[in-house]
Amino acid sequence: MKLSPHTAPAEPDNLLIRMHNQVGAALDVKGTEDRAIWSCHGCGETRFEYPLYMTRADANEHATGCRAAYHRIR
Ligand SMILES: [Zn+2]
Repeated sequence: MKLSPHTAPAEPDNLLIRMHNQVGAALDVKGTEDRAIWSCHGCGETRFEYPLYMTRADANEHATGCRAAYHRIR
């Protein structure tokens, strides 16, 4: 399998958790415990500002189903 160029992007300073989708693209949970967001480097989807425990569950669900490995989305 060809890896996405976004498999291991630079880690932002506010990175809390890094997950990977089904094809290895990184999905980053960033922010604080009170206001976290996640963004998927595979498909470009982002969700904003929930408490970390909710963001983590939502991000994990996305990573489980996402198979995108776009090569031109940041
Ligand atoms: Zn995705």
